[in-house]
Amino acid sequence: MANPIEKIGVYTSGGDAPGMNAAIRAVVRTGIPSGVEIVGIRQGYAGMLTSQFETLQMNSVANTIQRGGTILKSGRTPEFVKPEVRIQAAANLKKAGIGGLICIGGDGSFRGGHALWEEHKIPIIGIPGTIDNDIYGTDSTIGYDTAVNTALDSIDRIRDTAASHDRLFIVEVMGRDSGFIAIDVALAGGAEEVFIPENLASIERTVEHIKKGVARGKTSSILIAAEGQNPGRAYDLAEQIRRKSGFESKVCVLGHIQRGGSPTASDRILASRMGFGAVRALQASLSDIMIGMVGGKIVHVPLLDCINKKKRVPSELIELAQLLST
Ligand code: ADP
Repeated sequence: MANPIEKIGVYTSGGDAPGMNAAIRAVVRTGIPSGVEIVGIRQGYAGMLTSQFETLQMNSVANTIQRGGTILKSGRTPEFVKPEVRIQAAANLKKAGIGGLICIGGDGSFRGGHALWEEHKIPIIGIPGTIDNDIYGTDSTIGYDTAVNTALDSIDRIRDTAASHDRLFIVEVMGRDSGFIAIDVALAGGAEEVFIPENLASIERTVEHIKKGVARGKTSSILIAAEGQNPGRAYDLAEQIRRKSGFESKVCVLGHIQRGGSPTASDRILASRMGFGAVRALQASLSDIMIGMVGGKIVHVPLLDCINKKKRVPSELIELAQLLST
């Protein structure tokens, strides 16, 4: 039986997501009562490379569960892809006596953590923290529910103005190369069409759809576009629709407002359960896994699966959005 873990380092990395603080809080408040020192690593891998380590106390995380962003700060450290750079990080962690890591981030952050385990045998547990929900092995990621609700709130407002002025709106939501936010927002917001990377609706079909709506007396429409790898693509869509149909549309790119804000109850609970699960996993001498939530239960998923496998938007959701928008 391995020695019990005495010191755990926790960090947030990549894009920040509402609910990350609730996860940090759960790590601290699960670890300390069971005799583990919890060290906050600031700014993700950048802090690992510069030994920005700070022991967290029970009250370090007081009054944080409702706050968006991350109290540990996040960061992007492109040089971490180089093995020689990771040698420095591993040396700093070992010098500080950190015997295990909890990485709250997306698949890029997990790649860095997995490499530290492979090359330096530093135990690592991942917690999926990203608004995009594009991580294999979990029904939801921390921040996703908040981002969907923030975007939905904006769409409801746009619907009011669209209906008052008989307008066509194209609303662009975040989601890198995945369409989870877009499909949920389209379903919940009653959008007329959704453009997601997984299933690109054709402009022709959209134009036909809008024309049929107009013939039935519909005066306003909202189309949702996932930004994909191409933020600002809603402007291209608007131009293509104008060329094919003459319909003028207003474009609204929601952008970073979707990242901020107070996490929803659902995200706070998800983060709390995952933070607890991550500490317990390290205490059980597990490593190289992500804590996921499937069907309401905590699961352990190999990090390599989370990195290499793709989670797809279920096709029945795409079909449902199309059916209900006719
Ligand atoms: P996310 O974790 O949200 O997917 P990124 O893809 O930007 O965000 O990754 C966050 C950080 O993780 C990067 O800035 C880098 O420091 C580290 N990282 C990403 N990819 C790798 C990789 N292949 N190897 C090692 N570290 C990586």
